[in-house]
Amino acid sequence: MSGGRAMKEREFKDTHVVLGSRWQPECFYVREFLQRNQLKYVLAEPARGISREIAKRCGDVPVVITPKGDQIVCRDGVGSLAEHLGMKTQPAGGKYDLAVVGFGPGGLQAGIYGASEGLRTLAIDRVGPGGQAGTTSRIENLMGFPEGISGPELARKSAEQARRLGAVRTTSRDARYCTCTRGYLQETRRARYR
Ligand SMILES: Cc1cc2nc3c(=O)[nH]c(=O)nc-3n(C[C@H](O)[C@H](O)[C@H](O)COP(=O)(O)OP(=O)(O)OC[C@H]3O[C@@H](n4cnc5c(N)ncnc54)[C@H](O)[C@@H]3O)c2cc1C
Repeated sequence: MSGGRAMKEREFKDTHVVLGSRWQPECFYVREFLQRNQLKYVLAEPARGISREIAKRCGDVPVVITPKGDQIVCRDGVGSLAEHLGMKTQPAGGKYDLAVVGFGPGGLQAGIYGASEGLRTLAIDRVGPGGQAGTTSRIENLMGFPEGISGPELARKSAEQARRLGAVRTTSRDARYCTCTRGYLQETRRARYR
């Protein structure tokens, strides 16, 4: 194998391939999901060859090819993809003291406080941790980071801190489809695309 090819293979080793159009909202959502969960991806627009064949089979639905070569058809939003990637999409049973909706900087901070005070804390996000801040390359005005910090790094560290303190995070869950009755959180229907 040539040095250049070996280098390219190393570079793309952990990369997911998203088949879809950059203008398609469903495809944008899938890419946002991968980015927010810090998974590398490339977008392959179905122009020719194998990607066109898959696209024809799946219609307008984006398809993700994982680094292992599995093809996930994202028909129901990112739920099956999250499950396939081994992410937690269902909270463990039992009772929670606190449910935080949204794992942007506000929710991450609330989750960290809650869990550090010993509250059994559940965090629900429809995409992944970081919120808007997770998309920015540099945050300069955050206390404790004199050199600044990138949004994805802040999201990763904060989510790790929340997890270490015991907060349980579920992804691809949309609070619009949850109701809270007599202290029980119930999902009325599964989230799809926004
Ligand atoms: C490009 C960019 C650069 C920025 N740079 C800076 C900066 O340098 N300094 C600074 O102070 N601020 C910056 N900001 C602003 C900062 O990112 C926001 O103020 C901050 O992210 C707000 O945090 P939040 O947790 O309130 O909301 P958000 O970041 O919006 O997070 C909300 C979260 O809730 C989830 N969510 C929403 N609805 C639902 C639902 N129904 N069910 C489940 N989950 C849901 C979303 O997926 C998201 O993860 C920047 C913003 C952008 C876009």
